[in-house]
Amino acid sequence: MTELTRRTLFGSTALLAATAVAAAAPGAGQQEPGALRGSVSDGHVGLPPLHAPSEANGEVPNPIPPGKRLGIAVVGLGTLALEEILPGFGQAAHVRIAALVSGRPEKARTIAAQYGVPEKNLYSYANFDGIRDNPDIDAVYIVLPNAMHAEFTLRAAAAGKHVLCEKPMAATVAEAEQMVEACRQARRTLMIAYRLQHDPAHRTLIGLARSGQYGAIRMIEAVNGQNDLPNGQWRQILAMAGGGSLPDVGLYCTNAFRYITGEEPVEVTGRVTRPPHDPRFREVEDVALFTMRFPSGVIATGSSGYSFHESRQLRVHNERGWLGLDPAFGYDNLALQIDRKAGRASALETRRFTPRNQFAVEMDAFALSLHNKAVPLTPGEEGLQDMRILAAIYQSAAGGSAVTLPSAVTQAKPRGEWPSQLGPYLLT
Ligand code: NDP
Repeated sequence: MTELTRRTLFGSTALLAATAVAAAAPGAGQQEPGALRGSVSDGHVGLPPLHAPSEANGEVPNPIPPGKRLGIAVVGLGTLALEEILPGFGQAAHVRIAALVSGRPEKARTIAAQYGVPEKNLYSYANFDGIRDNPDIDAVYIVLPNAMHAEFTLRAAAAGKHVLCEKPMAATVAEAEQMVEACRQARRTLMIAYRLQHDPAHRTLIGLARSGQYGAIRMIEAVNGQNDLPNGQWRQILAMAGGGSLPDVGLYCTNAFRYITGEEPVEVTGRVTRPPHDPRFREVEDVALFTMRFPSGVIATGSSGYSFHESRQLRVHNERGWLGLDPAFGYDNLALQIDRKAGRASALETRRFTPRNQFAVEMDAFALSLHNKAVPLTPGEEGLQDMRILAAIYQSAAGGSAVTLPSAVTQAKPRGEWPSQLGPYLLT
């Protein structure tokens, strides 16, 4: 069929032969045709660039074989697990879904069939400790309501498994401290799933804000809020959530203020509202407003809420320009804006980032930190630091005055290493 088509196209065998000779003889600066189809070295496939360096896309992904990836048991099959994390495994290069843990057997079996998880690797919360005897499972990813994070971290560590745990790390500071201690004693790695510290838009913003090209950072402001249903979900129950919008979505602001400045706060203030007659806020706050003061003099001001239309913005004000993300805290479509003065003009630059599942990158970073025997970028101590800061914000909201943070917070150096296999951490 191919031959017939060629004959029809070129009309004669002689013309075909001449064309073949021409194709085999590359001109100056051209690649051998075979070389354009790639090469294999050390188990990695490489392809030569097709575009100028100014338009390069990066390297070929080269995922490691499934048998060599970190086997993760996903604990809790709710919204985040089903909508983001399980699909994220498909874009990850260093992790695989090893097992599922759920209180709903029929849901677990259905999801297991979708993702190819064998029946023997399905667990309930009651028989969870049996993961100890399952060599398929190297680590667990805890995606349960906040008040269940501590129990399952402790049980996973006791079963000899590493732990990746969703934010907020726990419902209380005491639980967070127990989690760090239990994993330390069991010599297991604990990482808190701060996806945005692994996101290229945020890494670019951090790099630019600290680069000095726009002068020093002076002030940061952020809002992260959404409109939740009055459906009695665990987020509206204090004992399950540990708080309202502050630990759930305000946490993204407090964490960003810390990783953008690279400093730890010395003082915080807080205010919270609980609108009467709204069933969502019988136990937890709706809006939280907070400020953080850093040693360099930077002031950050943030707000979160559960009753207004989705709004997720971040702006870093430097001496000679501002850097903004809008949306800033979502899963995709993050857009970075850079504004500076150019003579009489305001030069506004926009950068958009190729969508990539944030959980895939975060899980790969977790696997690589284990491979490198390094402390992950966002270990348990990073989550504990935020828990202590949130507690101080609540304390200020209750007492009305600013709260000075103890040396356990101001002297902490809670972050670990970015795995170099994922490229440079700070982007500009
Ligand atoms: P969901 O309520 O949608 O899911 C939680 C799951 O936990 C349930 O589906 C259930 O799974 C299991 N579960 C076990 N016991 C209970 C219980 N008593 N009540 C309710 N659920 C229970 O929550 P999300 O998926 O939205 O959040 C889970 C965690 O992930 C939270 O810590 C949250 O803060 C965090 N999160 C992080 C995000 C991020 O961007 N990093 C975004 C959203 C959430 P099963 O039926 O299988 O037992």
